[in-house]
Amino acid sequence: MTSLSVVDTELTHALPKIELHAHLTGSISRHCLHQVWQKKKSRDPDLALEDPLVTIPPGKVDFNVKTFFPLFSSYIYHLCDDLQSIIYTTESVLQSFREDNVVYLELRTTPRAIPSNSITEAQYVDVILHCITVSNNINECTHTSTMQTNLILSVDRRNTLEEAYKVIDLAIVRKGKGVVGVDLCGNPEKGDIAIFRPAFERAKEAGLGITLHFAETRASATEDELRELLSWRPDRLGHVIHVNDDLRREIVKRNIGVELCLSCNVHAKLTEGSFEDHHFGWWKESGVGVAICTDDVGIFESPISNEYQLAATHFHLSKVDLKKICESIVDITFANEREKFRLRSIYSNVDWG
Ligand SMILES: [Zn+2]
Repeated sequence: MTSLSVVDTELTHALPKIELHAHLTGSISRHCLHQVWQKKKSRDPDLALEDPLVTIPPGKVDFNVKTFFPLFSSYIYHLCDDLQSIIYTTESVLQSFREDNVVYLELRTTPRAIPSNSITEAQYVDVILHCITVSNNINECTHTSTMQTNLILSVDRRNTLEEAYKVIDLAIVRKGKGVVGVDLCGNPEKGDIAIFRPAFERAKEAGLGITLHFAETRASATEDELRELLSWRPDRLGHVIHVNDDLRREIVKRNIGVELCLSCNVHAKLTEGSFEDHHFGWWKESGVGVAICTDDVGIFESPISNEYQLAATHFHLSKVDLKKICESIVDITFANEREKFRLRSIYSNVDWG
């Protein structure tokens, strides 16, 4: 039986955790990106890409909406542009979450075609699913409290409706084979999200879980946009920052789970003030499932155990509070009933003191 005493870093590390909002590429550590770069540089001394440790210096976490998204489109995607790099980085991400005692992970990624290496969106998704299957099987051979992973496919706000349908259809044919849901993500200052409604309707009809980046910045938090997103009947919402009282009540009434990312929000200045001002304080009392998540641990350098520690410190969480939070997260996963049963068993075996 896992024994937990005071809420300290040892406890938040040892605590079996569920991560529901982690972008695959944003979760790759700088060190891992550096290794990919080194391999490429040794094969091609003329490689034009700069060393990741120079482009994204360790310790730099003050990325904002203007600097964050180009980092991926202009840099990281170019570095991870072949199957070998995609496999290497995915395995590294899975390993990092496992070492931080994550017992259930929903990783998300936007299907990416890489024509320069003849990789289609479907191949991209399948190679990641293969890494996940290998990882899940390794764990099954050991013992029950180890990590299981599922995949969420993301529609990017800059996509066309046709591209969005492609993502949804990729997810539908892989439902039951590792894909459990779909997401809307991307630069909150771009795109007209209303065009995606029929694509997400198709996902809903197919029984996929739906999670949406919601009110991340003021630009993506107009009443029209938020009402439109809620009309898609999402199961979960990510960030939920610029949300007025009416909409908060609506979310609670519908019992929609929320995915909150403290370090990302504070460092990127998506929220005002510091950690103690974060809206986690409001949601933890709301009655809906509240998942503490990393978003992009590779960029913000705060593993999920540290996110739990930040929440515990700034919101004075007791072990009883942590128990309530952990159990509420099980209910809002997109896992099947067998997996939810496993997760509940894991938490029932924790000695909460
Ligand atoms: Zn996100």
